[in-house]
Amino acid sequence: MRFEPTELTPEEAALQTEVREFTDRELPRGSFERALGMGADSDRAFSKKMAEAGYIGMALPKQYGGHDRRAVDRFIVVEELLRSGAPVGYHWVADRQTGPVITKFGTDEQRERFLPKICAGELGFSIGMSEPDSGSDLASVKTRADRAENGWLVSGTKIWTSNAHTNDWFICLCRTSPMEDGNKHQGLSQLLIDLSSDGLEINTIPFLDGTEHFTEVVLNEVYVPDENVLGEVGMGWAQNTSEMAYERGGPDRWLSTYGLVEEFLRLHEGQDIDDRTAAMLGDVTARWHALHNMSFSVARMIDEAGAPSVEAALVKEMGTRFEQEVVAQVQELLDHEPAPGTESQFERLLVAATLTGPSFTIRGGTIEILRSVASKGLNA
Ligand SMILES: Cc1cc2nc3c(=O)[nH]c(=O)nc-3n(C[C@H](O)[C@H](O)[C@H](O)COP(=O)(O)OP(=O)(O)OC[C@H]3O[C@@H](n4cnc5c(N)ncnc54)[C@H](O)[C@@H]3O)c2cc1C
Repeated sequence: MRFEPTELTPEEAALQTEVREFTDRELPRGSFERALGMGADSDRAFSKKMAEAGYIGMALPKQYGGHDRRAVDRFIVVEELLRSGAPVGYHWVADRQTGPVITKFGTDEQRERFLPKICAGELGFSIGMSEPDSGSDLASVKTRADRAENGWLVSGTKIWTSNAHTNDWFICLCRTSPMEDGNKHQGLSQLLIDLSSDGLEINTIPFLDGTEHFTEVVLNEVYVPDENVLGEVGMGWAQNTSEMAYERGGPDRWLSTYGLVEEFLRLHEGQDIDDRTAAMLGDVTARWHALHNMSFSVARMIDEAGAPSVEAALVKEMGTRFEQEVVAQVQELLDHEPAPGTESQFERLLVAATLTGPSFTIRGGTIEILRSVASKGLNA
């Protein structure tokens, strides 16, 4: 395991400036509700603007509407957008992982059908992995696909499916053949499923703060034609593992509470700050700097054809714990508890971060699972 130090090239620094100009222009202060990182609202119009600026599908092939750029370019764009609290929810999963997964495992027809729309910011995807009894132990999923004429009939329940009620499609991990000899990694497949299919029901699950970002998706004999099988039937586990690698190590795993600190700073603009506040700001700035460098190094390794799965797991483990600790550090400096519905942008963010922050270390793989990924990788 190694995090090679790296720096922006002049071209990359120019891209960073360009994105900053884009966010200043498109998201002037006060014109939108600042989000806590990737948990942002779905805003199709904003996703479209991002696509028009060339910021979606950056690392996807030009042939399919992408931009043939590198992981580092995408890292730069994503970092700036998350720092500004942009409403990136609609295209988030499609851009981060569905697009790359379809590029890698999809047929030419699937690439032609889905990628141009993803790159245009016109298609939102969700992740259909977790189930009521299968989260960390994902290979135990029970959603079943039975053979039908030229396709499959899918039945089961997915849970915690982020934004299934606002997105268009999801990739569903399901069992296409029974487990043999106790090997649960065999017989799983990934299916591309239209979220408006007959037999598919979406029930929202509110967070503690009342917002509705994730859902339960119930499938009752949903027909999926063969052309919507992603990759090979029975190879779903290997493909899914590859998909999860796209979920980890990026700025979405350490920037969720950046806006909270920035809004806190704004409250103190032009004022002297006390030693405790200065110590908190120094501490979080230093840790952001370290996480930024580690995560940037992961992106650079991806561009250099490396396989930084251990490094990415460590970024997520450290980054998501940090995102939560920031909230506690800010809370310690306050002499009152903000109430939901407050006029202050800072206090609204603090309420949201307090109520939804516990999920940061669960979504995309828990702390314990990431430690296990890292330790297995280091011992391999
Ligand atoms: C905000 C949010 C958004 C989400 N969005 C999606 C989504 O879009 N799509 C989707 O499919 N899923 C989504 N999830 C689900 C998420 O991936 C799971 O919650 C997560 O993988 C944990 O699974 P679980 O909830 O079943 O907990 P469990 O797996 O039951 O884990 C419970 C506890 O046991 C620990 N544990 C479990 N196994 C081990 C082990 N082998 N070793 C040590 N400790 C272990 C865990 O670390 C955890 O602390 C989302 C979750 C959240 C919070």
